[in-house]
Amino acid sequence: MNLLLALHSTPERETTSVFVTATFVVAAVLFVLALKWLSAPKTARRGNIAGEIGMAAAIIGALLQYHVVSYEWIVVGFVIGGLLGAPMAIWMPMTAVPQRTALSHAFGALAAALVGSAHYYLFDLKHAPPPHIIMAFLCLEVLLGGLTFTGSLMACGKLQEILPTRPIVWKNQNVYNLAILGLAVLCGIALTAHPQASWLFPILLVLSVTFGVLLIVPIGGADMPTVIALLNSYAGLSASMMGFVLGSKLLIIAGALDGASGFILSVIMCRAMNRSFTNVLFGAFGQPQASSAAASEKKTVRSIAPDEAAQILDAARNVIVIPGYGMAVAQAQHKVRELYDQLALRGIDVKFAIHPVAGRMPGHMNVLLAEAEIPYDRLAEMDEINGDFPQCDVALVVGANDVVNPAARHDKSSPIYGMPILNADKAKTVIAIKRSMKPGFAGIDNELYTLDHTLMLFGDAKVVLAGVAKELSENGR
Ligand code: NAP
Repeated sequence: MNLLLALHSTPERETTSVFVTATFVVAAVLFVLALKWLSAPKTARRGNIAGEIGMAAAIIGALLQYHVVSYEWIVVGFVIGGLLGAPMAIWMPMTAVPQRTALSHAFGALAAALVGSAHYYLFDLKHAPPPHIIMAFLCLEVLLGGLTFTGSLMACGKLQEILPTRPIVWKNQNVYNLAILGLAVLCGIALTAHPQASWLFPILLVLSVTFGVLLIVPIGGADMPTVIALLNSYAGLSASMMGFVLGSKLLIIAGALDGASGFILSVIMCRAMNRSFTNVLFGAFGQPQASSAAASEKKTVRSIAPDEAAQILDAARNVIVIPGYGMAVAQAQHKVRELYDQLALRGIDVKFAIHPVAGRMPGHMNVLLAEAEIPYDRLAEMDEINGDFPQCDVALVVGANDVVNPAARHDKSSPIYGMPILNADKAKTVIAIKRSMKPGFAGIDNELYTLDHTLMLFGDAKVVLAGVAKELSENGR
């Protein structure tokens, strides 16, 4: 803060201020357009570019808004951020994007909490305490920033399996957690009423970071992507509060957009899994299911080799491919493309059924299939394609599990009961590619694999798909 000095009122200042306002308007419009364009695969690339240009405009505007005395620390921050961010963007695999996103939220929220804290301690509390309304926004900024910082680190740790992915639960945990949150809110209210009570500020900070940890550890790894969308929302709200404290309209707008989009995304994800927010946050979903493992031992499965799969596919008139998390793990999207080409050459109608929560993040399958240049018009959303399965000759399941588990329709005791699924079991033949009989993310067995018309094609998706595509191309079938 001491690096910045307000400009004196000069004609030069007037011109700068008009320019700054213009850059902020441009940035705000680009942020809105970015969100709009990011919502469809066709325009997503444009959305990314719009967001990047918007952010560049926002940074330029923010630097010009003040007369920066020394750029040294800004350059140091820029270099450190770049050194951390660039390798993460370049080398982190697609499957690790959720934890990378969690890290970004953690850093963003930490920045908001630190700016809020610095701002508080820069006030002359004795002679010119901050207005109550500013103090209220500042407390909210620090509370949300603190809990999002530690919460996002916990989420990242669980997804990266540095921390145990199972829900860590203890007696009356929700009561303790809510008590800690309640105390933090009380501290905020007291500080708003009496900004001079500076001894309360560190307590508010400690309570908020503690609540962040305790909020996330009881949630299972399976729910982390949804939790991350929610933490995204908190980070956005924290930035918005920071905008009120700093008097930055752009920060208020950008934070509100981030907060709202994160919240909407988590609502969509909860709906797609047929779960409520309370169930995600307090349901301890993902605990090992003792009964399911025992049940699977009794059932038998029929397995086939890649050449047999090639024969079955060759004889089909229409095929629906169902990609899932296993395709992402195996990085099998290019082999899927090779198979698609082979089948399309034979005039076989091939479609791709996309479940809203297949993989580990929204749009995961769309991104991978787009990378392999599968035509967009071949992709169909769940509601659009579910009616086609009874007429489908082969449903080819590529590393998907929970999203095709029929138990979701009828087994009331199943943790995924009620989740809308892709009706792969209704196809005439099902070929399921996976490495073993191990369960998917929800930790439960899948009766699809033991149905009479299901054939298991065991192995890494990339390897077996390469085998099937090779078989088809070599034999010119
Ligand atoms: P899934 O249920 O997690 O199953 C993935 C399957 O892929 C596993 O059974 C695994 O079996 C197989 N697999 C792993 N590596 C493989 C490889 N190299 N080659 C072949 N197969 C491989 O995946 P899903 O059906 O996509 O379902 C997604 C799950 O994540 C749902 O439970 C959903 O609720 C949850 N979720 C998703 C989101 C989201 O935004 N997408 C958010 C929150 C939660 P093997 O180990 O036997 O190979």
